[in-house]
Amino acid sequence: MKASQLITRGLVLLLLFVSVACDGSDSASGTGEASIQDSTQTVDTTLKLYVFECGRLRFDTVENFSIGNDETDVRDLVVPCYIIDHPAGRMIWDGGLPSYVADTEGWHDNERIGRTAQLDRTLAEQLSELELGFDLNSFDYMAFSHIHYDHVGVANEVRGARWLVQRGDFDAAFAEPATVPALQPELLANLRDGDYLILDGDHDVFGDGRVQLISAPGHTPGHQVLFLDLVETGPLVLSGDLYHFRLSREDRRVPVFNVDPMLSLASMDRVETLVAERNATMWIEHDLALFETLRTAPEFYE
Ligand SMILES: [Zn+2]
Repeated sequence: MKASQLITRGLVLLLLFVSVACDGSDSASGTGEASIQDSTQTVDTTLKLYVFECGRLRFDTVENFSIGNDETDVRDLVVPCYIIDHPAGRMIWDGGLPSYVADTEGWHDNERIGRTAQLDRTLAEQLSELELGFDLNSFDYMAFSHIHYDHVGVANEVRGARWLVQRGDFDAAFAEPATVPALQPELLANLRDGDYLILDGDHDVFGDGRVQLISAPGHTPGHQVLFLDLVETGPLVLSGDLYHFRLSREDRRVPVFNVDPMLSLASMDRVETLVAERNATMWIEHDLALFETLRTAPEFYE
């Protein structure tokens, strides 16, 4: 009796094993239909963030950022660009230094005392070298944290994308005479008659909450930051120029050239509340020391 019970158990276990093994091989290799569904689902849920270096800035003094020169040794800022690859479309966030800066090898003098700029490779060059499968004609949307020249450098070269811009910055971009410092209106010339959407506050770009423009005025009239809900990396806020230095954030320092200091402080409060509520990481975009720890394209965050 015991022997027959053992044989029965053995047969049951064998059948279970065969059944599990068959299921396993089905899902691994897959019949056509099953594997197509799987790969479609993978593509549909992936939100990717690519990070690029789009220049550097060097300052003789940091006093314009309301920081004493003895409070930090940092004089170099990185100028990044980002590409957000969402299943429903692709967006560029911040456009780096103007491509003409790359014409000068080394540090380019902006004809402004105390500030120089450097751009080794334009974004167009980087995209062509990296062969990511997209170029400056491949974007559905372009959005910049604000209209300062170091954030819209590539704007005129982007074709076929809808510009997502807060009303304050749209008006300031084409105001004569200029009402905002550090503006080079010619960098936005092609956008004036292009496809744009003027925003009056926060904007959920793809309608699923994963890519959101958050209004944070003060640095310029229509400054905004970007909230991303990444699956592996987690919630992430790209700061724009809400802060330039770590001390700016720690001690709520408002640069002397912000168009509205009180509004800047209110925007800091608003964004910090979002960061706390969503348990988000914030990247201070210009933070070179942080940037050097990031994965740059062709690697990505997801
Ligand atoms: Zn900036």
